[in-house]
Amino acid sequence: MSPTAGWRLENSYARLPESFFRRVRPTPVRSPRLVLFNRELCLALGLDADLLDGEVGARIFSGNELPPGAAPIAQAYAGHQFGAFTFLGDGRAVILGEQITPDGQRVDIALKGSGPTPFSRHGDGRAALGPMLREYVVSEAMHHLGIPTTRSLAVVATGEDVVRERFLPGAVLTRVARSHIRVGTFQYFWARGEVESVRLLADYTLQRHFPDLRAAQNPYLAMLHAVVQAQAELVAAWMLVGFVHGVMNTDNMSLAGETIDYGPCAFLDTYRSGAVFSSIDLDGRYAYAQQPGIAVWNLTRLAETLRPLLDKDPQQAVDAARAAVEAFVPAFQTAWHGGMARKLGLVGRRAEDAALMRDWLELLEASGADFTNAFRGLMRQELPQEPPFSHPDFPAWHARWQARVADQEGGRTAARTLMRAANPAVIPRNQRVEEALAAAVRGDVRPLERLLTALRTPFVEPADPALMAPAPEEFQRTYRTFCGT
Ligand code: AMP
Ligand code: MG
Repeated sequence: MSPTAGWRLENSYARLPESFFRRVRPTPVRSPRLVLFNRELCLALGLDADLLDGEVGARIFSGNELPPGAAPIAQAYAGHQFGAFTFLGDGRAVILGEQITPDGQRVDIALKGSGPTPFSRHGDGRAALGPMLREYVVSEAMHHLGIPTTRSLAVVATGEDVVRERFLPGAVLTRVARSHIRVGTFQYFWARGEVESVRLLADYTLQRHFPDLRAAQNPYLAMLHAVVQAQAELVAAWMLVGFVHGVMNTDNMSLAGETIDYGPCAFLDTYRSGAVFSSIDLDGRYAYAQQPGIAVWNLTRLAETLRPLLDKDPQQAVDAARAAVEAFVPAFQTAWHGGMARKLGLVGRRAEDAALMRDWLELLEASGADFTNAFRGLMRQELPQEPPFSHPDFPAWHARWQARVADQEGGRTAARTLMRAANPAVIPRNQRVEEALAAAVRGDVRPLERLLTALRTPFVEPADPALMAPAPEEFQRTYRTFCGT
C-alpha cells in the first residue's frame, strides 16, 4: 500500500456551481482519539486499515489533517422539517471528497461534528460522542441486515466537551454514503426559483446514480420513478425489521435510496403500529406505520421541484409527476408483501396470503408480542410459551399457516429456509444500544464492540441471550430518543 493509505478522492460535487456548497475546512480538535474504527469497510474502500487504525486515522477522521485530494465542502440544502419548510445546509458536517473504491464505486467521505460552517445558524457545528456512536452502531446493523444505508467508518473522540443541557464529550463521525443528495437539495434551488440549478442537480444525480436512465425518453421522469421505487423498497425493508426512522424530514431522504440520518431512530420491541420514540414527534407524524405515507408526502415534494423538467406543458408535467409518485403504493405493497411472505416462509403467492399476514400482525398487536422474536418463535419445532403463541386466537391462525406451508412447493423445509434468511435474531435493541453507549461514554467500549460483533451476523443466534431479549415494559413505555444532539 502506498504511503497515501489508498486515498483516491475526487471532487465532482465541488465542480458544480458555487451556490451548491461552501468551501470550509474542518475545525481542528484538541486531542483526537479513535473510539471505533471499521476495518472491514476501510478495506472495501481500498484504504490501508493498518495505517489508519491509530494516530494517523485519529488525525484524519477528526478533520485535523486532510487526506490527499480532499476539497472539503458543506452542501447547501433545504427541507421540510415536520412539515415546515426551512433553508438548512450542512451545519456541522463537511464532505471531504468522493472516494473511488477498488470496485469502481464513488462514495462520499463525510465528517459529522467537524465544526461550524456557513450553514451552522445558531449551532456549534459539533456533535456529542453518544449520538455519533449510536449512528455508527445502528447504521452498521442496518447494513448487515441487508438494508441500504449510509455507513460508518470511524468515530473519533475530540477531547473537547460540547455544551448541551450539560457538558458532553465531543466526537466526529466519518460517514460513507453513495451521496448526500437529498430531496431537500432539490427543494433548495426550487424554493429560490432556480430551475436551471434544479436541472443541473438532476443531471448530476442521473450521472451519479442512474447513468442508464440518461438514455431514457424522459430521463428526469425515469429518475423520479426510480427514486420512488427505491424509497418504496427501503421503507418496506425498514418496517419488516421493525425500524422507526423517527425524523423523515425531506432533508433526511436520500436520492440514492439509502437510509440516512440516524438521529431519533429506534427499533420496535413490542409490536405497536403507532409506535413513536422521538421526544419531539408529539403528533406521531413519523410513527412506525406512518412511514409509507410520509415517504409519499416527501416524494411529492421532490416531484414538485422536478415538474418544470418533466414536460413543457404544465398540465402534462403535473400528471406525469402525480403518476410517478402514485406508483409508490403498488411498489411498497409488492416489496412489503414479498418481504412478509419470506418472514412467514410462504412460497409463491396465494389469494389468502394477505389475510394471513394481516391476521398475524393483528395477533401480534393484540397480544403485545415482541415483533422480532415472534417470527423467530414461529420457526421453532416447539413454540414458546409467550405472546403471541399464548394468545387464545393463536391456535386457529397457526392451523391456517401450517396448512398453507404444508401445501406449498418444498413444504415446511422451504419455509424454514426462507424464514432463517428473513428473520433476524439480533437487532440493535434500544435498551442494549443505550447500555452499550453509556458504557462507551464512560470509557468502556467493550459492550459496544460485543454488540457490534453480534450485529454483523444478525441471522445467527448470539451466544449472549440478552441480545435477543425484549426490554422490560417499563423501559419500553418511557424510552425516548433525541435528535440534533
Ligand atoms: P438533523 O436533525 O441532523 O437532520 O439536522 C438538521 C439541520 O440542523 C442540519 O442542517 C444540520 O446541519 C443542523 N445542525 C444540527 N446540529 C447542529 C449543530 N450542533 N451545529 C450546527 N448545525 C447543526
Ligand atoms: Mg439531517
